[in-house]
This record gives sequence, C-alpha cells and structure tokens, in this order.
Amino acid sequence: MENPYPLPDELKAELQKKLAQAELNRYPDPSASSLRNKLAEVMQVPEGRSIVLGNGSDELIQMLAMAVADTEKANAEKEVSLLSFDPGFVMYKMISDFSGINYVGVPLKEDFSIDMPAVRKAIEEYRPALIFIAYPNNPYANCYDEAEIEEVISIAPGMVVLDEAYNPFAQATFMDRLSRYDNLLVMRTVSKMGLAGLRLGLLCGHPSIINEIDKIRLPYNINVLTQITAEFVLDNMSVLDKQAASIRKDRRELLQSMNAIAGLEVFPSQANFILFRVLNRSADDVFDRIKQSGVLIKNMRAGAGPLMNCLRVTVGTPDENAAFISALNTAMAT
Ligand code: PMP
Repeated sequence: MENPYPLPDELKAELQKKLAQAELNRYPDPSASSLRNKLAEVMQVPEGRSIVLGNGSDELIQMLAMAVADTEKANAEKEVSLLSFDPGFVMYKMISDFSGINYVGVPLKEDFSIDMPAVRKAIEEYRPALIFIAYPNNPYANCYDEAEIEEVISIAPGMVVLDEAYNPFAQATFMDRLSRYDNLLVMRTVSKMGLAGLRLGLLCGHPSIINEIDKIRLPYNINVLTQITAEFVLDNMSVLDKQAASIRKDRRELLQSMNAIAGLEVFPSQANFILFRVLNRSADDVFDRIKQSGVLIKNMRAGAGPLMNCLRVTVGTPDENAAFISALNTAMAT
C-alpha cells in the first residue's frame, strides 16, 4: 500500500546535497521541533494542539499502548482495554497483546459500517483506555459515518485515535475537529504519501495528552536523515499532492475496469488500495494465477467471515494497474 512514484530526479539531486551536509557524528534534535512545526503547518493541525512524532505510526501505536498499560494498570479494578473494529489494522491487536492490554475487537456490520449498539455495549462493559479508528479503514478502504464516530468520541471514557494513514486518498478528516474534543487524537503518517522508507508518523492532540505520550518516546527516535528529508519534501509538498491526485484518478479507472469483470464483488475505496471478493470460485486459486502472471497482490486468506474469499490490490502506476487487470482477466477466464 505504498505510493508507487519516486521523487522527481531534480528533487532527488537537491535532497542529496542536503543529506551530504548532515552532521552524522551528532545526535539529532531530540524533539525535532523544526520538523514538527512544518508538519503542523502542512497538515493543518489546529492552533493550540500539539504533535509527537514516531518512527512510523506503528511506533506511535506502541507508545499509546505503553502509556495506558503503564499508568492505568496499577490502579485499574479490571484489565486495561483497547477497543477497535474487526476486521481492521492488525497492529492494534498485535501491540495490545505485546503490551498486556486486553484487545476488544467489535465486529463491523456486513456492509463494513460500525455496529453502534455493539460498540456502546463494549464501551460500557470494558471502559477502554484507548479506541483506535482507522479512517479510511484498512482492509475495507471505507470511511465510517462521521456522526457515529463523533458519538464514539463523546461516550469514550479514554482516548480516541483517528488513524488517518490513508488521508491523502480520502476526502474526509477529523483534524479540523481536534479543537472540539480533548480526548480526540489524530494520527497521520508520511508512509502512504510517498515516504514509507523514512518511517515518520505524527500524533496530534491536546497538549495535556501529547506531553504525557512524549515522556515515553525514546529521545532520538527521529533520526537526522529522516528529519532533513521530511522537511525538504514537505517544502515541496505539491509534488506529493500531485502524485496522490494521480493515484486517486487511477483508482477510479481501476475500479471501473474491475467492476467490468464478471464474478467479482468490488468494494468502493477511499484509500490507495481496493478490496474485492471472488464469487463462486476460490480466491486462493485466482490469487495464485495472478501471481503466476508476475503480479503480487494480497490474499486476505479468509475461509469464512466478512473477508471470505477476499483479495486486496494496491493502486500502482498505470502500467502496473494494466498488468494487474490483464492478469485478473486471464485468471477469471480460466
Ligand atoms: N495505520 C494503518 C491503518 C495502516 O494500514 C498502516 C500501514 N499499513 C499504518 C497505520 C502504519 O503506518 P506507518 O508506516 O506509519 O507505520
């Protein structure tokens, strides 16, 4: 689920010069304040809200888990819980498990929307210290109903993290609502924008929360090369914006081509990937045939449940998308 486009050659050359001047013998700025200021501006973080950076948003999920596991466990009458929706991004559960936190996965409805009665009940029962909502979701690529998310934020006893990793491909965000809710945090990453190799994520929210999370952060978690590169690319954000716009346009065309193939149920997408279900035959078989044609996609490997017989493809370059459509057509025809 990466952006398939590299930086243009002129920018690469300019960046190389900047990187050559990096003082590799020195520790980086521990708080990466210049980079945080730039991110606040480019990502339109509201005035009065703070940012903490992670080595990818995966590290931020880990910091949040450590924060609630450490501080609440001693006093909690029952286990500390983290709530999310299933199926969802796998790291929420993995990191909960590693951190000794009880993971509560509330199943999504069949149309991939939030099962509000089940969520209300789970919040009441488990009083989760943390709720993660991927927006758009992975693996479905949909954005949930905004009013339902707002209700979750309002009734949550703890922090609610809107994980907006796929924001460059969606038309919706909760960033502008950060000022309205003190328990709301918005997490972004530069990975899907085209900088997955940098490992840089950001968590935005009320300073009283962000300052606590910052205490857990290892002091030099954002290395000097990442700081220099990210600032440089953010100064040239229009390049990445154009790439995201191409991916959104190619997604539309890819969806059209896939919808024209009989025997598939193709789900709409607000992300840079598309989930689809193979009907009346084995998805494993279709996956293997596509792979034999030299195209690797993701097999969700679900024999039953909501992801039954589902595969997921990343929107690539126009050539890659054409190769995928040709491989998919051949696989479905044989
Ligand atoms: N959140 C979601 C929903 C994701 O799908 C991913 C990556 N697949 C991440 C976060 C992790 O992003 P990062 O590269 O910043 O660790």
